[in-house]
Amino acid sequence: MATLTQEPQVSRPTADFVSQVHHNYIDGRFVPAVSGKAFSVYNPATGYVITQVPEAEAEDVNRAVLAARRAFDEGPWPRMSPSERGRILWKLADLIEQHTEEFAELESLDNGKPLAVARVADLPLTVDMFRYMAGWASKITGSTLQLSAGPNYHSYTLREPIGVVAQIIPWNFPLLMAAWKLAPALACGCTVILKLAEQTPLSGLRLAQLIDEAGFPPGVVNILTGFGEGAGAPLAAHELVDKVAFTGSTEVGRLIVHAAAGNLKKVSLELGGKSPVIVFADANIDQAISGTSSAIFFNHGQCCCAGSRLFVHERVFDEVVDGVSRIASSTQLAPGLDPSCQMGPLVSEEQYQKVVGYIESGIADGAHVHAGGPNSGLERGYFVRPTVLTHTSPGMKVVQEEIFGPVVCAIPFNDKELDQIVHRANDSVFGLAASVWTQNLSTAHKVARGLRAGTVWINCHNVFDASLPFGGYKQSGWGREMGSEVLNSYTETKAVTVAL
Ligand code: NAP
Ligand code: MG
Repeated sequence: MATLTQEPQVSRPTADFVSQVHHNYIDGRFVPAVSGKAFSVYNPATGYVITQVPEAEAEDVNRAVLAARRAFDEGPWPRMSPSERGRILWKLADLIEQHTEEFAELESLDNGKPLAVARVADLPLTVDMFRYMAGWASKITGSTLQLSAGPNYHSYTLREPIGVVAQIIPWNFPLLMAAWKLAPALACGCTVILKLAEQTPLSGLRLAQLIDEAGFPPGVVNILTGFGEGAGAPLAAHELVDKVAFTGSTEVGRLIVHAAAGNLKKVSLELGGKSPVIVFADANIDQAISGTSSAIFFNHGQCCCAGSRLFVHERVFDEVVDGVSRIASSTQLAPGLDPSCQMGPLVSEEQYQKVVGYIESGIADGAHVHAGGPNSGLERGYFVRPTVLTHTSPGMKVVQEEIFGPVVCAIPFNDKELDQIVHRANDSVFGLAASVWTQNLSTAHKVARGLRAGTVWINCHNVFDASLPFGGYKQSGWGREMGSEVLNSYTETKAVTVAL
């Protein structure tokens, strides 16, 4: 096993944390896997092993569920005053903020993303999510209703926590995805079992320590590291879980739905995308070039809402595609912790093989490589150059399937097809996000209405805020994360009627 001394320099606290013996967090205690098994965590910039983490399996899952069940049925958390719950969530936000640098280093080391990106995107958004939901804890209300059955009744609704929630997250924004899941569920008074992604467990394990420090009662939050089949599947199927919230691939999303069928637990899903980006001829071209580049290349294209189908009006097609390609070709590939890094490695060898396979399939199907291509030129690490494909056709795999890497298909359209462009943009099984680039207000809003997607950005892309609901139409998911909408996902509504 390679040690951290062969790794890029990280600060003392980060190195100290990494070198600890890592445990699952169950019922307020840090415990090894029941089987004693552990698995390796890799640095995607080098392929070296960073450390080992416990491999949770069905019995660990069961213990975590029983702890969460007890904490929900008998413990103080759902019964606590909402302002007290909010205060503990706010304290957790403060603790995370105080450890921003350490978390940013862990994300970069584990996921491969540039340290600067983790600092300015993942961390502030995570802290903000906990603060925003801390505020909601005391503002979850029912309503009073006037019944047509007559004036002799008084009716009102109660919003109650849904219960024990299983949460399963991916590796693209490890800490932020944990925050998107934990913060609203906890604000609503639920108790949680969170399974981290096998590729990126480090920031979630550090988060467990801060959760312990923040003063959550035992069993309210339980955090496990393990594999999808060994830990995720028994968690999604567990009879004592009331709800499962999943983010990841559409394929695994379907498995979650099947697993949930046993006790008909509630399900919310945040799945894949193939988001269209539409650039009209009247767009501010410089803004469109930099904006559509970051729409696809941000986080190495490992975003469910990555703008991977770039529709450009033919009058500005060459200018925009050349501009995006220039940005692609000049992007500095380096390990995330290297100060020169503009784009780090993909998260894993598996993801690297998958993305390179898509680029090769596009080429085999007749697409032209306008920038990038399948060879990174780097000897070590899972690097893929930002890639622009042209001359694609609608049926190609690269146009239809989610690549989850820095690969964009640029597709021209002309004046005659203006009415058709929304239809073409909607020609996907996914419906997560889209962006529209134009200076014409009317075009912008008309197209925004026509797009079948949970998020539409106008003259921007990848703008996130804890207050903005996020989720998918069609096969991109069920339900919404963030905003006030997510509270529906973690509460039950009870109608109470009194005969006066
Ligand atoms: P994935 O397999 O869907 O993994 C997401 C999470 O689900 C991980 O924690 C995973 O565990 C777990 N999981 C896997 N199989 C499971 C099962 N049978 N039951 C319960 N949980 C299970 O995604 P991936 O393998 O990491 O990435 C594959 C593709 O998914 C990507 O290429 C991309 O297209 C898509 N993706 C989408 C998003 C998004 O935000 N919408 C995020 C990530 C990936 P492990 O720890 O074993 O992985
Ligand atoms: Mg997987």
